[in-house]
Amino acid sequence: MGPGPSPVHPRVLRAMSTPLVGHLDPAFVELMDDVQDLLRYTFRTENQWTIPVSGTGSAAMEAAFGNVVEPGDTVLVPTNGYFGGRMASMVERAGGEVVEVDAPWGEPLDPAAVQDAFDTHQPDVFGFVHAETSTGVLQPNVPELTDIAHSHDALVVADTVTSLGGVELKVDEWDVDVAYSGAQKCLSCPPGASPLTLNDRAMEKVLSREEESRSWYLDLSLLEGYWGEERSYHHTAPITNVYALREALRLVAEEGIEERWARHERVAGALKAGVEAMGLEMNAPDEYWLPSLNAVRVPEGVDDGAVIDHVLEKYDLEIASGLGDLEGDIFRIGCMGHGARAENVTLLLGALADALE
Ligand code: PLP
Repeated sequence: MGPGPSPVHPRVLRAMSTPLVGHLDPAFVELMDDVQDLLRYTFRTENQWTIPVSGTGSAAMEAAFGNVVEPGDTVLVPTNGYFGGRMASMVERAGGEVVEVDAPWGEPLDPAAVQDAFDTHQPDVFGFVHAETSTGVLQPNVPELTDIAHSHDALVVADTVTSLGGVELKVDEWDVDVAYSGAQKCLSCPPGASPLTLNDRAMEKVLSREEESRSWYLDLSLLEGYWGEERSYHHTAPITNVYALREALRLVAEEGIEERWARHERVAGALKAGVEAMGLEMNAPDEYWLPSLNAVRVPEGVDDGAVIDHVLEKYDLEIASGLGDLEGDIFRIGCMGHGARAENVTLLLGALADALE
């Protein structure tokens, strides 16, 4: 119940022991189609350009920024958590100029601040984190943010690493141009093949770049050869991770995406009610509580490290401490994918109560 990787479903573990076939084998090509369709279902998108990027969430993140950002572009990134900082580093490496929209760690972006930042800087691209794993904050008002960006002709890149498959996310309806994610959070899959989707508007920009992407490996105009119609060799796909991802996504489809969002909210809601009944306080107000990552304030005078160690050693249960501006202030308790089950909440609440005694 940490910030990820989350517990992997036994069916996904079993899929990983499937014998390998070649990355151009007809059976694998069929499986690639399945994965792309299932990813579209999970992202709630019709985007043709929907693929698993070889590598962890940061690879999908770098594929997003490294292709959409051209040298000289101005890119607006948030300062309200750890991953906005990573966006800034990637943008700089892609030759972009970073400008920031501020909000304190532990709070979402205010659309008015985003509007101001657009009026001041006229950015070409706007990146935001839908579910900030470092603070347990869900960014509300996504359609409002994408409207602001599009009225300034900017593209929107959403970090959905801790939301995809666990928290309501509607890429097409919310008009998000690019979204990337990871496999090891609410999809409960080992890290290694990471979801990415781009709409035609974003892909048009990628395919008409004057300067080629600085990364050969993550260049989407080259990856198109493998994941597009041609199915020609680019690099050897991580076959086992793609098997795993397909099985994890099948589980999402079998459950139904909306029911899965509802389960996360229900189970994490029980966790939240339990910690509050113990006299603990959630860090985020209800309007932007993130069910997949629950930030609980460390009570006055309690050593967070000692609680985390106790819970791990005595109960074999992982929770995490805060990061950056929230270091020492919060516990981060994941409730993701196969981990989002009632029995885990019961175990967690008992363990936490014991550790705080
Ligand atoms: N973005 C967010 C919100 C994350 O939580 C993470 C990982 O925890 C990443 C990006 C990077 O993903 P990875 O660690 O899989 O490279």
